Amino acid sequence: MIPLVDLKAQYSHLENEILDRVKEVFKSTHFIQGPFVEEFEDQFVKMHAASFGAGVSNGTAAISLALEALGVGRGDEVIVPTHTFFATAEAVCNVGATPVFADILPSTYCLDPEDVLRKISSKTKALIPVHIYGNPVDLNALAEIARGHALYMIEDSAQAHFAKYKGQYIGSFGDAATFSFYPGKNLGAFGDAGFVFCKDEQVFQRVKKLRDHGRSDKYEHDLVGSNQRMDAVQAAVLSVKLRYILEWTKSRQEKAMLYDEAIRRAGFKTIEPTPSSEPVYHLYVVEVSNREEVMVRLKEKGISTGIHYPIPLHKQPAFKGMDQGCFRVAEKVAERVISLPLCPELTVENVNFITAEFLKVARP
Ligand SMILES: *Cc1c(COP(=O)(O)O)cnc(C)c1O
Repeated sequence: MIPLVDLKAQYSHLENEILDRVKEVFKSTHFIQGPFVEEFEDQFVKMHAASFGAGVSNGTAAISLALEALGVGRGDEVIVPTHTFFATAEAVCNVGATPVFADILPSTYCLDPEDVLRKISSKTKALIPVHIYGNPVDLNALAEIARGHALYMIEDSAQAHFAKYKGQYIGSFGDAATFSFYPGKNLGAFGDAGFVFCKDEQVFQRVKKLRDHGRSDKYEHDLVGSNQRMDAVQAAVLSVKLRYILEWTKSRQEKAMLYDEAIRRAGFKTIEPTPSSEPVYHLYVVEVSNREEVMVRLKEKGISTGIHYPIPLHKQPAFKGMDQGCFRVAEKVAERVISLPLCPELTVENVNFITAEFLKVARP
């Protein structure tokens, strides 16, 4: 079976390097935060030329911590795309604020700035654009809306490590940006981990306090925070993988181009990069009208597929009863998208085989 993401192949390439590094953590017994986490924080911030950054426990906590540090909470509304992973909106609820959904653009699958404008109310405090599938949102348009309405902007970058917008890595355009290092993400830990970038130093200091029981000193607590710290083992793994991430990104982009050449020529709709951006293809997504059939037939040929995502957030049972409305694009996309295998380890032969089998059965 060709998996969607081949984590086993990646591990076997890096096994010795990673085990050596993780042994150092064990020997040092600095298991939580400490020097290994600080080293990774430093590397990740420097590579991005970001202002400030903190390692945290996962990508969902990263969003909640950013919101809380910016002062977003009970009574506030936060605009999020309805087409994203559930956590984007869940993190808003976790700080007591209310997610307000907006539609996406049919071309890029990213938040539609026009619909954002329609959803702004006197309670709106922030917006969380998602660089979905690794495709950067139109950051200029959204930053302008945020500025014009005095809203905070948090880039949910969980799927977009080292994607570029106007020649610059995403993550430094918003007031904050959040990352997930869930194992299947483009940069994945060996467990849960996440990251927060902040533009403002005071916001950054609050994130650092909030992730660690609101501490100012070992047993002095300025705030009621929580425990959202990063493990040193995860930081050690991530420091090793960080050496390869740009090479892996290039490989993802090359494979996505190969797919695109044949699949677009056959008349299918795939991810259109946002103008002036360089997507990093967390997923290779294509729209079909006969999804069930395609998934069954590809499975018979040993090809894994996925659906990202089958249910838009406004239709999630957990959000039942909230004032929702019409999300024409997101609803259509949720019915049509299918994800084909894509990871740095996928070979050109794999891509050609998958493309040929896909084109035999799929209909635009
Ligand atoms: C994975 C993901 C998250 C959540 O990250 P976790 O580390 O799993 O908590 C948030 N937003 C998006 C868009 C994601 O893909």
